[in-house]
Amino acid sequence: MRIYLDHNATSPTLPEVAAAMARVYAGPPANPASTHADGRHAAALVEAARGHVARLVGAADPASIVFTSGGTEADVLALRGTFEGLAGDERRRGLITSAAEHPAVLETAERLGALGWATVHTLDVGADGLPTGLDSALGPDTRLVSLMAANNETGVCLPLAQAAEAAHRVGALLHTDAVQALGKVPLSLSADGVDLASFSAHKIGGPQGVGALFVRPGRSLAAQLTGGGQEGGLRSGTLNVAGVVGFGEAARIAHEAWTARERAMRSTRDRIEAVVRAALPGARVHGADAERLPNTLSLTFPHLSAEALVMMLDADDVAASLGSACSAGSGKPSHVLVAMGVGADRLRGAIRISTGPGTTLDQAERAAERIVACVRKLDALAGR
Ligand code: PLP
Repeated sequence: MRIYLDHNATSPTLPEVAAAMARVYAGPPANPASTHADGRHAAALVEAARGHVARLVGAADPASIVFTSGGTEADVLALRGTFEGLAGDERRRGLITSAAEHPAVLETAERLGALGWATVHTLDVGADGLPTGLDSALGPDTRLVSLMAANNETGVCLPLAQAAEAAHRVGALLHTDAVQALGKVPLSLSADGVDLASFSAHKIGGPQGVGALFVRPGRSLAAQLTGGGQEGGLRSGTLNVAGVVGFGEAARIAHEAWTARERAMRSTRDRIEAVVRAALPGARVHGADAERLPNTLSLTFPHLSAEALVMMLDADDVAASLGSACSAGSGKPSHVLVAMGVGADRLRGAIRISTGPGTTLDQAERAAERIVACVRKLDALAGR
């Protein structure tokens, strides 16, 4: 039986989600913008889903949830939508982000800089994975701070209320990419003062190609998809009703089964970490000195080829990830671990293990034993 330990890349679709989506596909035509009964039924399904997502993220007003095609689109809408036109405040061109962000933020920030819409300041991160120097980077020209709620490779979590307060002190807004935090750490976006936050359904057992942007009431953004004015004019296009319903169902389950899901993710991650650390003294865990997601384990081994390790594990029916799925196959070392100052001897030996609510302790133990055996085999082959 395969052991899937790559939940940060994508997670298995929950059966309840597939069933809810199947009901939409089998039901009446579903355009929530139509005024007839079928349209109204679809609109009611979408609003129920919006409510579930709002509850999971601690958004006081469900209308602050704008559905998108995923986390990437939500990040792009947040960044480009904040800087496009610079309506009313041309002097505020500053965008502060960090070197450990997801490419959806990093590449968009780079584009905004190249367009001349933003002056980008990229914070370094410390060895613990947290951004450094935010207070001194903030100034009267700062328009937006974009820092991720939880890192996809290491799981390191940002104190959101503190970051929002720092941004607000200079009149700037806080955007957070909360794609990996969703369903894994409690979120209270309204209470924490977060202005914009990105989510993706497929990291919590929902469908791929659906996400959301939280937009605090009163914050204005330039729509990036213009047209029929759906989603309060912020994201035109006929909604993916089945996908949105699936996202809502996944959010409902993540909220209602929180304790059991969190316990399963944490206990299995901790078991793998403990077994690997005890058996392999060269193993190093990255991000463990800060608050970390309960399911994520970033491991490096000295002088080892992580690619060879992941392939061996795959042949052994364990699905793990190379650093992050996004840099996998690029041949480049993880930009997150580079930013954290991990030494060159370890950078090619980085793997990411991410457990899920359905991972069992038995699977965790078997996977850990296989990781230990594979690393020992690779070390022996290399004469170490
Ligand atoms: N942001 C983070 C932190 C992610 O981990 C991912 C996906 O891996 C994304 C954004 C992109 O989300 P999506 O796949 O829904 O576009």
